[in-house]
Amino acid sequence: MMNKVQGKIKQALERGEFFKFICAVGNEDMELVKRLAMIYTLAGAHVIDVAADPDMIQGVIEGRDKAHQMALPNVDPDLPALMISVGLKDDPHTRKVYVKKETCSQCGQCLSVCLHQCLKLIGGKLHIEEKRCIGCGRCAEVCPENVLDYIHRETDIAGVLESVLPLGIDMVELHASTSDTAKIEEKWRIVSETVPQDMFVSCSIGSGYVSPRELAQQIQMIFRITGKRTIIQADGLPMGGGAEGKPISLQAVATADIILREGLPVYVQASGGTNDQTKALAHIAGVKLNGVGVGSYARKLIWPEVNRTDFYQKDIFNTAILKAKHLVDSVK
Ligand code: SF4
Ligand code: SF4
Repeated sequence: MMNKVQGKIKQALERGEFFKFICAVGNEDMELVKRLAMIYTLAGAHVIDVAADPDMIQGVIEGRDKAHQMALPNVDPDLPALMISVGLKDDPHTRKVYVKKETCSQCGQCLSVCLHQCLKLIGGKLHIEEKRCIGCGRCAEVCPENVLDYIHRETDIAGVLESVLPLGIDMVELHASTSDTAKIEEKWRIVSETVPQDMFVSCSIGSGYVSPRELAQQIQMIFRITGKRTIIQADGLPMGGGAEGKPISLQAVATADIILREGLPVYVQASGGTNDQTKALAHIAGVKLNGVGVGSYARKLIWPEVNRTDFYQKDIFNTAILKAKHLVDSVK
């Protein structure tokens, strides 16, 4: 028997209107997480997805509570549900960038592409604010001197889940975009056995790492283990939603299509390069999504407001809500 929150999530999925705001697995800036959570609560998101870190979970809870205290008539007091994400070591969501050489040409290209403002040139050296880094890879892609590389984190998934599940978590997601199907199966079993049976569980997998046939096998395996409480996040272009001028939702919609063609009774939600056009694109392509998860695009959209010192000033705050609401409503 599902509780009220899970029941509302189920309804949103079945209507194809499920909207998930992704704070980013790697985002560890608590004040920023709090502000983002507050705005997307007021905008009507069904779920907020955050790193499995007690401080960040607290940041989302505080942001959500603050939004609920405003008691606005159109804001559901039971939502958004709180989802935590854990990742396999190879998944790009679990990495951070680091500087592998002492000095560089200081060309500044990496600074201008980082949406999270993690990078600074100080005294001829590049500095990274690791807490803000989500491992998107834009900086490393543009660096002409190959100065930047990634550290991938290995997570003790069972240990992390046991420590954070009592903090009021409603849903769990495993980021498993990798070709190592045996590894996905091992970690997914841990998720299935640890997360209570009346809760939704989500597995994020992508087509960029495996053939369509292997992707289909991964989906079959995931469904065998968790059955109808499964959400599959079709991860198109991980953390790609901030890119300008590219048809970035195409890969997410195409990945969702491969998953849906398996005909399994799972819920399919697109992510990775998603934006306010994703649902419309899926509709044109005849791909029946249960929902859309938006990360980079959703954060970038309200970046100018949430990063201001006068964020809580009425006009600034309301502008952020209106922008976020436009995005959430594009899925409803
Ligand atoms: S561009 Fe992406 S990977 Fe590079 S520092 Fe910024 S957030 Fe981290
Ligand atoms: S892009 Fe590379 S060379 Fe240019 S400032 Fe960044 S790290 Fe240095």
